[in-house]
Amino acid sequence: MRKLVSTLTGLEYPFERFEEFADNGEALEVAVAGVEEARPRPGRHIWERFAEFLPFKAMDASASLGEGNTPLVDAGGRLKSFAGVNRLLLKNETQNPTWSFKDRGSLACIFMAQEMGERTTATISTGNMGHSIAAYGARSGIKALVFVPEFAPREKLMAMTMHGATVIRVRAPDYAAMKKEVLGLWKDFKLRIVSGNGPIRTEGYKLTAFELFEQLQGEPPDYIAVPTSACGHIRGLFKGFRELLAAGLIGRLPRMIVVQAANNSPIVSAIKQGVKHVIPFSNFHTVAEAITTGNPMGGDEIIAKASEHGWLAEDAAEAEILEAQRVFAEAGWFVESATATVLCAVRRLRAAGRIGAGDSVVLMLTGAGLKDLDALKHQSFNVIESNLDNVRSDLERALL
Ligand SMILES: *Cc1c(COP(=O)(O)O)cnc(C)c1O
Repeated sequence: MRKLVSTLTGLEYPFERFEEFADNGEALEVAVAGVEEARPRPGRHIWERFAEFLPFKAMDASASLGEGNTPLVDAGGRLKSFAGVNRLLLKNETQNPTWSFKDRGSLACIFMAQEMGERTTATISTGNMGHSIAAYGARSGIKALVFVPEFAPREKLMAMTMHGATVIRVRAPDYAAMKKEVLGLWKDFKLRIVSGNGPIRTEGYKLTAFELFEQLQGEPPDYIAVPTSACGHIRGLFKGFRELLAAGLIGRLPRMIVVQAANNSPIVSAIKQGVKHVIPFSNFHTVAEAITTGNPMGGDEIIAKASEHGWLAEDAAEAEILEAQRVFAEAGWFVESATATVLCAVRRLRAAGRIGAGDSVVLMLTGAGLKDLDALKHQSFNVIESNLDNVRSDLERALL
């Protein structure tokens, strides 16, 4: 009644499978039997209201840190005029317990670990996923083990260790190669090692689609722009809408906008060039540290979905990302550099006429600005240095 199915050729595997990808490398997703008849029901948490869409047998409320229920807000005049889009909404995932959307997926991973009787959960992450699973491990009493690359920001490592996770920093020439190696360790250790694009984590991200469905009174937006790295978030969101469609609760699917940094755009480049496979990137640097997967495993699914469903894809240059991060901040939202890419992308797509004047667009605010202080060193820092003798005159000048 519940199984894993590979997303391109439909290979089937047991739900309990440790490995996160099919033997041929395709991404896996959970198939829940009876989704056509599933209906929302009353409940406090989104995962209680949409329990019939989820594969877990039991979901223990005490594992929750209060994730989800994030605001969907009008973007306001500054962002609308910058992007050139009038119907612009922000889904503010920075208000999750560890300040990124990763918390939704971490809760799903904890539900899975509890159901399987696993005492340890491992993950590989550049920062936000590790921070998130560390917090959920602390909450639920499941040991969290996090593999990080050398470039993971110190703020995120501090959070992981504060929550009591075991952090293993791996020196490796390339993050994609490191990821492959680490994920392969499951076999000898019989350990579930969760990546950013696994089928269980994705079930947690699905909940965001259900929340948008509720917040928009059942009417999906035309577009949802998602900064994309491992690809779990974007496919989880879309899976949620596919299931709502299958259940007859919505009449059409939103179109996704895949957004990456121009310096690392393995998916966006493939979509733009009209090829079917991920174009691997290596030896790059981008200020958008949270979206640095250069060769996303299972990424071909996203390229196939883009062509099947008419998704858009756009990248953002380094200077544009920093500008967009500042524009977001000037409008009141302090987002991570990786998140800022969505504003650049939507602005470009609107200018090119790919997004229509009357289309509604949701920007996913995936992570909070204070999570990567290093990226902020590129921003201007305007503080008036004063002292008790000068504070009066400084104030006078400031008010001019
Ligand atoms: C993880 C992350 C992303 C990318 O999500 P994927 O599921 O890896 O594609 C984007 N922005 C932020 C802030 C993140 O932490």
